Amino acid sequence: MPAGTKDYYAMLGVERTANADEIKKAFRHKARELHPDVNGAPDAEDRFKEVNEAYDVLSDPTKRDQYDRFGAVGGRAPGGQGGGYGYSDIGDLFGGGAAGGFSMEDLFSAFFGGATGGGRGGVRLEGRDMAMQIVVTLAEAASGAEKEIVLDRLASCDVCGGSGAVAESKVVTCPECGGTGQRVSQRKTFLGTMQTVVPCERCGATGHIIENPCEECQGTGRVPDRQHVSVHVPAGIRDGQQIRLQGFGEAGIRGAAAGDLLVTVRVAEDEYLHREGDDLHGLANVGFTQAALGAKIKVNGVLEDNEVEIPAGTQHGDTIRLRGRGMPRVNRTGRGDLIVHVAITVPKKLTKKQRELTEQLAAEFGEEHSEHKTPLQKLKDWLGA
Ligand SMILES: [Zn+2]
Ligand SMILES: [Zn+2]
Repeated sequence: MPAGTKDYYAMLGVERTANADEIKKAFRHKARELHPDVNGAPDAEDRFKEVNEAYDVLSDPTKRDQYDRFGAVGGRAPGGQGGGYGYSDIGDLFGGGAAGGFSMEDLFSAFFGGATGGGRGGVRLEGRDMAMQIVVTLAEAASGAEKEIVLDRLASCDVCGGSGAVAESKVVTCPECGGTGQRVSQRKTFLGTMQTVVPCERCGATGHIIENPCEECQGTGRVPDRQHVSVHVPAGIRDGQQIRLQGFGEAGIRGAAAGDLLVTVRVAEDEYLHREGDDLHGLANVGFTQAALGAKIKVNGVLEDNEVEIPAGTQHGDTIRLRGRGMPRVNRTGRGDLIVHVAITVPKKLTKKQRELTEQLAAEFGEEHSEHKTPLQKLKDWLGA
């Protein structure tokens, strides 16, 4: 058998020479052994699937023959060089399409579908959670904000107060299921009679019947609704953080608990300020004379304007940290810092006087510089005049 191929014979614990009867017996034995009522092992469900897969193949003479020869069903020999065999979808093979009128999924749900009361059989009456996204500016994130959202959802019915009934007294226990909302269904399978728990159809799995259902909500207790909701965004919130509004999700069926609304807050990038955690980084343009002589300049912050002292001799790229001028810390006191990055700007054009003074300054510093030429002089140079 090629490497990586499942050994179906080993899964069922039979010899390769086993006949159909032996295979059937082995399968029944294994299937009972792995029944979740008996077998609490966490891998029981997976092993159960494997056993079914093995049986599906070995109980079918054509598939078994193919498996014996190629080590797989559907044609492809694992590890082989492809060739003319199309590998049929595994879902076709073992899913609902299985031949013989009895699919593995049927059997599977018979075991796991709620004979033990849990899982798929239960019907959820509580409303679902809902999710939404809002965008705030950095300034709003800093100051905190009230943002109005439009919420479309199934809300509790006003007419019946969510009960689904015109009057409370009209709600009676479902005679079909005795108020459990579940009904036991018996089916005959080749493993014997299987008991399955299915949702009660009569009461919609609620356990109650409304003799006089509310017309507004047809007895469900909830109606489609549009609501304007104000969301409080706390100061200091970070991009991607979520706000949970309890009970603002979908209403529950007939008064069951409503879900929550989860609002994800996106903080938009700011044009001037870059955020890193609770700190902010900003840029301050400083003239070269200001940098040389020192100056007091204004720097925009997120909540206030700041006066920043640029010391004489400040270099391009120097940073100045303004403590407590960054973002508020959400749910805590205090604020991060504002880190001002100094960008020294050089005038692109100089007036005649500015140029003369700058040339004098250059001479004073002993710095070489290009000679200034007027357009007319440049033309004369070019003409060789
Ligand atoms: Zn109603
Ligand atoms: Zn019922």
